Amino acid sequence: MTPDATTVTRNLYLESATAPPPTEPLSGEARAEVAIVGGGYTGLSTALHLAEAGVRAVLVEAEALGHGCSGRNGGQVNPGLKPDPDEVEADWGRDLGRRMVALSYAAPDEVFALVERLGIDCAASRTGTVRAAVTAPAEAAVAKLYEQCRARGMPVDLLGAEAARARTGTDRYRSALLDRRGGHLNPLSYARGLAKAAIEAGAKLHDRSPALAVERSGGGWLVRTKGGSVAAETVVIGTNGYTGDLWPGLAQTIVPVFSAIAATGPLPPALRAAIMPGRSSLYEIGWDTVYYRLDDAGRLLMGGRGPQRPETSPADFDHLLRYAERLFPALRGQDWPYRWSGRVAVTTDHYPHLNEPEPGLYTMLGYNGRGVAMATVAGRLIARRIASKGREPIDLPVGQGLKPIPFHAFRRVGIEARIVYGRVRDRLGV
Ligand SMILES: Cc1cc2nc3c(=O)[nH]c(=O)nc-3n(C[C@H](O)[C@H](O)[C@H](O)COP(=O)(O)OP(=O)(O)OC[C@H]3O[C@@H](n4cnc5c(N)ncnc54)[C@H](O)[C@@H]3O)c2cc1C
Repeated sequence: MTPDATTVTRNLYLESATAPPPTEPLSGEARAEVAIVGGGYTGLSTALHLAEAGVRAVLVEAEALGHGCSGRNGGQVNPGLKPDPDEVEADWGRDLGRRMVALSYAAPDEVFALVERLGIDCAASRTGTVRAAVTAPAEAAVAKLYEQCRARGMPVDLLGAEAARARTGTDRYRSALLDRRGGHLNPLSYARGLAKAAIEAGAKLHDRSPALAVERSGGGWLVRTKGGSVAAETVVIGTNGYTGDLWPGLAQTIVPVFSAIAATGPLPPALRAAIMPGRSSLYEIGWDTVYYRLDDAGRLLMGGRGPQRPETSPADFDHLLRYAERLFPALRGQDWPYRWSGRVAVTTDHYPHLNEPEPGLYTMLGYNGRGVAMATVAGRLIARRIASKGREPIDLPVGQGLKPIPFHAFRRVGIEARIVYGRVRDRLGV
C-alpha cells in the first residue's frame, strides 16, 4: 500500500494484516462482462459475488487493494443504517423500508458468515456492538432505538449506567445499547481476504491501475487506465470517499469527511482487563462521533474526527489521546505509535446511494461510516442485480440519476463548522 504523502501516518493495519494476494497493474486491452473501479469492500465484494455467479469481472484499483477506507477503518462490524428503523420505513415505505432494515441489521451476519465460508484470517470477533450515550439527548436516542429494535424482535439489550460501566470499563456513559450481532475484525486483512477469494473464484484484480476515463463504446463501456483498458457491458464504480472526477457529478453527491484513528501497542494485562472487558466495539451516539475497541493483540484503537485535511503532524491526533485518557485515566503515559486517517463518504440523507445514472453503469457509495458490513452486502446486491439483468429486486433503492449536493464547493467550511458546533453541543449536553 502506498503511504500517504506525509511521514506522520503509520497505519497499524499495514503492519498487522495478512499478506495481500499477488496482483499486477492492468496492461493492454482486457475484456470482461463487468468492469469494476475501486478495490475496497464495494468493488471486492461485487467482484467476488459476480465471479461466484460465473460472470467475468475485471477490477481496477488506483493504488493497492484496500488502500481507501477499507484498509483504514475502525474495524467495527455494525448492524443497521445510520437512520433508525422507524425513519427508514417512513422514508422508503413499508415494503422497501422494512427490507432495508432487515438487510442492514443482518449485514454483520453476512460478514461473519463470509469470513467463515471463505476462511478469511482477519481476527474476526463477534463480541457485539455498543452504542453509548454520554449526553441526555443521546440517552433518549438510545432508548428510542432500543424500543424500535425490540418491536422488531431484534436481539438487543438496553444497558443502564452501571451495566454500561461493567461492559466498557468507564463510568462516562448514561446508558448504552448492546447489539450482539456486531463485532470487529482487522479491516485490511478482511479486504485482502475478499480479494484473494475473488481471484480464486475467477475475477481479475489489478492494483496500481487508476481508471482515467469511463466512456461509451459500441453497445457497452470502455474503462481506460494508465496502462490499458477494459471493455465491458457493465461498469460498477465504488470509489466512495476517494471519488475523483472519473464520472461527471459523482463526487458532488457525497462529502468526504476525514476520520482519524490513533492506536497503542499491546497494552499490559491489567489495562487490557480494565478496558472494554466485554471486548465489544463501541461508538458514541452524538454530534462528534468517537469509536474504539481493543484488537486481538490488546491494542486500543481510538477513532474520531480529525482535521479535515491529510495529517501533517502527530499532534493532529492528540485530541483522541486526551479523550482516551479521560475515559480510562490508567492509560496516561502509554505510547500511541500508530496514527492515520481516511476519507469517509457522507451523504446528506445519511443513506448509502446506489445509482444507475446510465443503463449499464452503477455507482455505489456513501456508507456514512457503516461500510464494513454494508459495503460487503451492497457488493452482493449489485452482483445479483447485474447477474439477473436487473430482473431480481434487491433490498436497496436504485436511483436513476445523480443528485449533486447544493453548494458542494463550500463543503469544507460546512464540515468544519458542523464539527465545532457538534463539539460544543456535546460539551453542553444538548
Ligand atoms: C478512519 C475510518 C474509520 C472507519 N470506521 C468504520 C467502522 O469502524 N465501521 C464501519 O462500518 N465503517 C467504518 N468506516 C467506513 C468504511 O471503512 C467504508 O464505508 C468502507 O470501507 C467503504 O468501502 P468502499 O469500497 O466503498 O470504499 P473504499 O474502501 O474507500 O475504496 C475506494 C477505492 O477506490 C479507489 N479509487 C478511487 N478512484 C479510483 C480510480 N479513478 N481508479 C481506480 N480506483 C480508484 C481508491 O483508491 C480506494 O481504494 C471508516 C472509515 C474511515 C476512513
